[in-house]
Amino acid sequence: MSTYLEAQNHLHNHQYRWLVTGAAGFIGSNLVEALLRAGQNVVGLDNLSTGHLHNLEQIEELVGPNVWSNFRFIKGDIVSLEDCIDACEGVDYVLHEAALGSVSRSIEDPILTNTSNVSGFLNMLVAARNAKVKRFVYAASSSTYGDHPKLPKVEDQIGRPLSPYAVTKLVNELYADVFARSYGFESIGLRYFNVFGPRQDPHGAYAAVIPQWVAALIENREVAINGDGETSRDFCFIDNVVQANVLAALTSNPAAINQVYNVAVGDRTTLNELYEAMKRLLVQRFPHLQNHKPHYRDFRAGDVRHSQADIAKARELLGFDPIYRIDAGLQRAMNWYVDHLST
Ligand code: NAD
Repeated sequence: MSTYLEAQNHLHNHQYRWLVTGAAGFIGSNLVEALLRAGQNVVGLDNLSTGHLHNLEQIEELVGPNVWSNFRFIKGDIVSLEDCIDACEGVDYVLHEAALGSVSRSIEDPILTNTSNVSGFLNMLVAARNAKVKRFVYAASSSTYGDHPKLPKVEDQIGRPLSPYAVTKLVNELYADVFARSYGFESIGLRYFNVFGPRQDPHGAYAAVIPQWVAALIENREVAINGDGETSRDFCFIDNVVQANVLAALTSNPAAINQVYNVAVGDRTTLNELYEAMKRLLVQRFPHLQNHKPHYRDFRAGDVRHSQADIAKARELLGFDPIYRIDAGLQRAMNWYVDHLST
């Protein structure tokens, strides 16, 4: 399977059972929606710690009752091996997204983050191996590059982790690698770089920058920029992430398996540029934004200064071809937030 179109055609003609962990969260719920729309059978596992049932209810509304009947939700915790075993029963492909995100949360409570992200990850590996799934695709992270100065980031050159969260994501890669060598288990890790899009949670102390800012802009509240605003990220629209997951699950290229890949666009946008782009997209609808100015505060502990991916490996081995660059993705994301936050 070399291109996304071929992968989509394959799904059109074959129905598999997929387990999406973290199904009620941002990335998980988008994966569930895409798979159901592709005629697949989907099991979702989530403990609702940072995800929301309303994300799943929204999918039900969008796809209608017939397609929705192909979905089963398990409210359960990956920290329980029993829940993982139950969820993996009869599953062909696992897309493992469940984890506690946020660098700041992990600095405040490293034990909590470690429990879900390391013990939970290991439980999922064991359950998926025992269930003999065809492939285990998991959410790795760009935080694994840590303090390595090279830009753009290439998969085999990583530095020291800068937060407990980054340690957990690195440990995931180590476990996946050792499961390949010890048990012949097939997995693929996707190092996501700042993903954004519909259903990303704008609320709470650990909200990601784009949803946090869009809520503040719509409600005419202060937007806080950590540092001088020249910190940069490779912002990646969710549809590109869905594509990477489907390609990783279905690839039949032996060289592509048991590898990790950058999943991003390969661009670099500063926080100042991001703020201006978001304001431009929203100002017509919200004239109060004409005079809106960001507030600059201290740099945040554990944050990497610049992040940009080299996506050549995913292009070459998986056929990854991200359709959405930041402007087109922001346009779609802003439309969604305007519809869902300002009513
Ligand atoms: P999210 O918080 O929206 O989704 C995570 C989901 O996992 C939530 O629904 C949560 O309730 C669930 N969960 C957490 N702990 C669990 C547990 N112990 N048992 C069962 N369910 C549990 O976050 P997201 O942005 O959708 O992130 C998904 C994955 O992608 C995570 O692994 C995250 O580390 C990784 N990731 C995300 C980004 C990004 O930019 N969003 C970047 C790099 C990596």
